[in-house]
Amino acid sequence: MSITLLTLEIHFEQDIVMTRQRTRQLAQMLGFESQDQTRLATAVSEVARNVFQYNKVGKVEFRVEGTSTQIFQICIRDTNPTIPNTETILDGQYKSDLDTSSGILGAKRLMEQFQIESIPGQGTNILIGKPLPKRSSILTKRDLAEIADKLILHSPQNPYEEIQQQNQELLRTLEALRKREEELTQLNQELEDTNRGVVALYAELDEKATSLKRANELKTRFLSNMSHEFRTPLNSIISLSRLLLERTDGELTLDQEKQVTFIRKNAEQLSELVNDLLDLAKVEAGKVVVHPTQFEVSDLFATLRGMLRPLLIHNSSISLTFQETKNFPPLYTDEAKVAQILRNFISNALKYTERGEIKVEAAIADNAISFSVTDTGIGIAPEDKERIFEEFVQIESSLQKRVKGTGLGLPLSRKLAELLGGSVWVTSQLGIGSKFYTSIPIRYPGALEEQFFSLPINLQKDPTRAAVLAVEDDPQTIFTYEKYFEDSIYQLVTVQTLSQAQQVLQAFNPIVIMLDILLKEQNTWAFLTELKENQRTQNIPIVVVSVVNNEAKAKALGANAFFIKPVDRLLLLNQINMLVKQGKPQKLLLIDDDPAFRYVLKQVLSDCTSQETLALQITEANDGSEGIRLARVESPDCIIMDISIPVVNGFEVLSLLKSNVATQDIQVIIYTLDFLDEEDRKNLAQSTIAILSKEATFTEVEIHCLKETLVKAGLALMNVGERYV
Ligand code: ADP
Repeated sequence: MSITLLTLEIHFEQDIVMTRQRTRQLAQMLGFESQDQTRLATAVSEVARNVFQYNKVGKVEFRVEGTSTQIFQICIRDTNPTIPNTETILDGQYKSDLDTSSGILGAKRLMEQFQIESIPGQGTNILIGKPLPKRSSILTKRDLAEIADKLILHSPQNPYEEIQQQNQELLRTLEALRKREEELTQLNQELEDTNRGVVALYAELDEKATSLKRANELKTRFLSNMSHEFRTPLNSIISLSRLLLERTDGELTLDQEKQVTFIRKNAEQLSELVNDLLDLAKVEAGKVVVHPTQFEVSDLFATLRGMLRPLLIHNSSISLTFQETKNFPPLYTDEAKVAQILRNFISNALKYTERGEIKVEAAIADNAISFSVTDTGIGIAPEDKERIFEEFVQIESSLQKRVKGTGLGLPLSRKLAELLGGSVWVTSQLGIGSKFYTSIPIRYPGALEEQFFSLPINLQKDPTRAAVLAVEDDPQTIFTYEKYFEDSIYQLVTVQTLSQAQQVLQAFNPIVIMLDILLKEQNTWAFLTELKENQRTQNIPIVVVSVVNNEAKAKALGANAFFIKPVDRLLLLNQINMLVKQGKPQKLLLIDDDPAFRYVLKQVLSDCTSQETLALQITEANDGSEGIRLARVESPDCIIMDISIPVVNGFEVLSLLKSNVATQDIQVIIYTLDFLDEEDRKNLAQSTIAILSKEATFTEVEIHCLKETLVKAGLALMNVGERYV
C-alpha cells in the first residue's frame, strides 16, 4: 500500500519553510513524538534547501508505504543535472563549496531510510523514510484520507511562527541534552561509587588474604610445635618402657611387667594417633611434599613384605601373599606414600581378618597401576563403605574392641592417593571379605615441578661448626633433626637424594653421616658400601637410622651405629659426639670457688664416665684467673663456671676466653645463683651453651638436664637417657 498524503512544489525560498512546516505537521498527525518530528522536519528541509539552491525548482511528495510495517516516506525530486559522487557524499568524504554534502549527510544520519538516485540528464530523486511509531493498530486508508483532509484545513503558520516553533524545538533539544548530561553525571557518580566499592572490596580481600596467611602460619607453627612437643615425650615413654621390659634396669615383678606393657601399648597407640593426625593436617595444609622417584612394583612389594612379616608372626591362621609383578612398568611417583597407603590397607586387613588369606595385587590400567588388598575378613556393610573414609569413623564389630586403631588410616590413605593424582575405593561383602583398591598414576602428574625442588642444594658452610650430613627424605624426620640440632655445636645439612649427598660430601666434609636406608631410591645400601670403600670417605662415621630393624646388615656394611626411628635426641647427639671423639679423653674444667658444689658436681657426673671407654678428666679452678690459665694449658672440651668468682669474674673470664684463638671454641656452661637481668642473659646466651641455676638439688630431672647440656656441648657420656623421669 502506498498512499500519498500531500505534494508540494518548491519554487521560492519560503517553500523550504513550508516543506519543513508540513513535514512536522504530518509527522505529528502520524503519531511521531516531538523529537522525531524535529528530526524529520530538519532532514526534509535540508534536502529541500539543496533543491532550491541548485535547481530552484523541485517537488516534494509525502506518503505512507507498506501494510504490516508502515513507513512515512518523503520523496524529493528535482531536475538537477546529477549530483556527482553520491557515494563519497554518503560516506562523508566529499566536500563541496556550497556544503551540499553536509546537508545530505546530516539528513541521512537522522533517518532510517535514505536513498539518492541521480540519473544523468533527468535529475535527482532523494527518498527519506522513517517507520511509523509503534501503535496498537496500523493506519488504514481511511485514517490516512482523514489526515490528508485535515492537512487542507490546517495550513501551516507564517514563517515568523515557524522561527518561534524552531526556537521551541531548539529549547526542547537543549533540555533533552541537559537531561542527558545530568544522566551522564549521575552515571559517572554511580561509576565512581562502584569504583570506590570495588577498591574497598579489594582492600577487604587483601585483609582476608593477610589473615588467611596468618592462620596458615599459625597452623604451620602449631604443627611444628606439635610434632616436637608431642612426639618427643611419647618417644621417650616408648623407649623407656622398652628398656624396662628388656630388664636393663633389673628384674620386674609380674604386676610391674603388666603395668609397663600397658604404658607402652598406650603410648604406641597415642603415637600412632599423633602421627596420623599430623599427616592428615599436613596434607590438608598443603605441607606435604611429593618426592617422586623411579621404582619397581616388585621392589615395593618386597619392602612391604619385609615390613609386615613381623605382624604375621602371632597369627598363623592368616597367610599374606604378594602377587608376582615381574613385567610391570616402573612407576615414577612418591614410593613412600604408595607404601604408606598399602601398609595401611594390609594392616587393616590383618586386623579385621581372623583366618584365611590376604592377597596384595597390582594391575595396569590406563597410565596407572591399580593396587589392591583382598582379605577374607569381617567385611563392610554397603552403608558403611563411604563412611569409613571419614575421619575417626570406626565400624562397630566384635573385632573392633580387640584391635588398635585411630579411624584415621583410610582418610589419610585417600588424601595421599589424591595427592599423587590417584584414588582409593573399596568393594566388600559383609561376612565374606573386603578388597581395598588404590589407583596411582604411573607418572606423578606434578613430576616436572618436583624436579625443580630437588635441584642441587645451595647451602652456606658455617665455618664455626662441623657439618653433620643427614640423608633423609621423610619431611617429618628432617624436621625433627632440625629441631634436635638447633643451637648444637654441629651444622646440620640435610639432603633428600643420594646425588645431593655426593655434592655435600665434596663441599662440606661432614664429620658424621646419618643415613636413612629406606630412601625412595633403592640403592642406599650400595651408597653405604661405596662410602666405606672410598678412601676419601671411609673414615667418616655413619649412623644408619631406619624404620626397619636392619642393624646387622648395616653394621656388616660398615655402619658405625644404628637407630630405629623414632630416635631420641639425647641418644642421637651423644652417639654423634662419641663417634666424633673416637675414644679420645675428654676434659672438663670447673671454675667455682665453692668446693662443695664442685664435689657434688663431680659425684653427679661420675656415673656418666668410665675409665676405659668414655673417660672424662675433670680439672678444677678456685678463681677466674686460675680458670683462664688452666683453660689455656689444658684446652678442655667444656667449662662449667659460676659468675661470682674471685679475682676475675665470670663475665671477664668469658670475654678473655672468647678473645683468644686458643680458647675461643671451648664450650661454656654457666651455673650461678646470681640475679641476671635481661641484658646479662642476652649477652651470656650468645657465648654459652646454657645458663643453669645453682639452686639445683640434683634431682633426676636436673641431672638429666645437665647431661643434656653437656651432650649439647659436644661431650660423649655414658648412661644418657636411662634415668629420664
Ligand atoms: P583404623 O585405625 O580404625 O583401622 P581406618 O581409617 O584405617 O582406621 O579404618 C576405618 C574403619 O574401617 C575401621 O575402624 C574398620 O571399622 C573399617 N575397616 C577398615 N579396613 C577394613 C577391612 N579390611 N575389613 C573390615 N573393616 C575394615
